[in-house]
Amino acid sequence: MKPNHWILTKCFLSMNALLWGWGVEAQGTGKPRNIIMIIGDGMGHTQVSAAYLHQTQGSGDGSWNMGRFTHFGYSVTTSSDALITDSGAGATALSTGRKTYNGAVGVGPDSLPLQTILEKAGATGRRTGMLVTCEVTHATPASYAAHRIDRDLYEDIALDLSLAPLDWLVGGGRNHFVARQDQRNLLEEMRKARGFKVMDRSEDLLKAPRSSAIQPVVALIWDGPAPRISEGRDPGLMAALTARACRDLDRPAPIATKDSGFFLMIEGSQIDWGGHANDGDYVLTETLDLDRVVGAALDFARQDGNTLVVLTADHETGGMAINSGARDAQSMGLAFTTKKHTAALVPVMAYGPGAEGLSAMMDNTEIYRRLCSLWSLEP
Ligand SMILES: [Zn+2]
Repeated sequence: MKPNHWILTKCFLSMNALLWGWGVEAQGTGKPRNIIMIIGDGMGHTQVSAAYLHQTQGSGDGSWNMGRFTHFGYSVTTSSDALITDSGAGATALSTGRKTYNGAVGVGPDSLPLQTILEKAGATGRRTGMLVTCEVTHATPASYAAHRIDRDLYEDIALDLSLAPLDWLVGGGRNHFVARQDQRNLLEEMRKARGFKVMDRSEDLLKAPRSSAIQPVVALIWDGPAPRISEGRDPGLMAALTARACRDLDRPAPIATKDSGFFLMIEGSQIDWGGHANDGDYVLTETLDLDRVVGAALDFARQDGNTLVVLTADHETGGMAINSGARDAQSMGLAFTTKKHTAALVPVMAYGPGAEGLSAMMDNTEIYRRLCSLWSLEP
């Protein structure tokens, strides 16, 4: 055998061993009972790259959960009226499969409401939840369970959320529910009219026994958004809440149907805010926080065996680059080209039944269509 053939053969064999070692061959086909959709707001390829290098080669602790995904793709994030999307149009494309104008949440270009995958899940007897580090009324969560022509209509969005088919809602934005122009207390209304268990401290939620009764939960644990990790948010909190969400939602639906299962949307909301601020440390700490969320979701999915976990972004923020740094990534020069969003394609990562279909270069609306198809929902 000529040396170059030998090298090629050796490379081929190592590659195969690597793929087998990662268990790629056994993953990704079939249909999931549960879907966990994780969105890193503003998380492009460079944000992921910086977090990866920091954890695996730099001063991080070596843990890296996004590497546990088995299928990878790209998503195109353009909106109906712009090359560069905002979070409302970006999330609406993911939640409804329709491109809409920048600023819209849960409505199409004609301003008419579009049923979201979360609402379709609720309508077919599945349980639904959302967990975010922003106000729950912010553009991304709003796009999954509210329908408004303008993302800034926070109090109207809160009203929509109070009536939405949600079984589990956790994040910030308490003020939009209880300190309103119209004097209504939406949390009290959710408790009285819909039987919600209302909590305002994450400790209470994490300690609460998992009761046998099926009771929806709302815990708005911050008046506004969550504090940054650097300002005191417990770095273990979001992962713990993710595990708790899976545990609470993973139960038979109120009406036992063949479709029982759950849809959970989790957003790492502040990666975007770090990008807007051109603050590399902020981006890095929030991306690493989302990686811990991914770890908790994948732990559940691996044990459950019937859960699809998808990670993507609504767009990239900051035009971030790694411009310099030491070989061991102990230092990295993180740079930005803008304080706004960019049109860069964003990563798609998937694990579990149905993951195979997300390993593509596709439009953001296509992600929605492929998820609907896995659950036999009319898109
Ligand atoms: Zn943004």
